[in-house]
Amino acid sequence: MNRPKRLLVANVAWAHETAARNPGFFRDLVRGQNPHVLWIGCSDSRVPAETITQCEPGDLFVHRNIANLFHPGDDNSASVLEYAVRVLKVGHVIVCGHYGCGGVRAALLPPDPGLPHVNRRIAPLCALAKTLREELHGHASERERVDRLAELNVLEQVRRLRASPIVLEADPAPLVHGWIFALDDGRIKVLTSGYEADDATTCTTAAHSAA
Ligand SMILES: [Zn+2]
Repeated sequence: MNRPKRLLVANVAWAHETAARNPGFFRDLVRGQNPHVLWIGCSDSRVPAETITQCEPGDLFVHRNIANLFHPGDDNSASVLEYAVRVLKVGHVIVCGHYGCGGVRAALLPPDPGLPHVNRRIAPLCALAKTLREELHGHASERERVDRLAELNVLEQVRRLRASPIVLEADPAPLVHGWIFALDDGRIKVLTSGYEADDATTCTTAAHSAA
């Protein structure tokens, strides 16, 4: 059986099992969505938002891209934020990065001429890495530098989101959180929760501006 066929067979099994477990499940899905969380994560196949948080369809409004980046000038990520905040009225925006991120690692390497779209996309991350060069060089191994930049990148995206007019003008404004996922034990570490008043200070100090 080829891979797409296997996915379709698994889908049939999932639909049957879900309906058996909760007969009203699909009827509720048809009625509409009311997620309370916008999740901005990395496209990496090892970090599926719903799986690592045990969420069900309908729980998360999800946007994923390489290295979990948010660009105010990019209609893709900005439209997701706009819809989540203004229409779905989510109470929380979670940026979740992960250790061992290939997109973050790429930002520390010379651009790959075969990946022009990726290069353009991660350009702000490359700029952030340059501004943080001194701190990153304080870490001995490449792995440590990648992982530290992955954390600082999350904080930078949080800073941008908190500064976005879409977030600032919302009433009430959603809380913006910064998380990072560890591939080696499956645990999420909270870098900034959105609840503590000093979060914003930590965030600004740690990440500076990529501009
Ligand atoms: Zn990644």
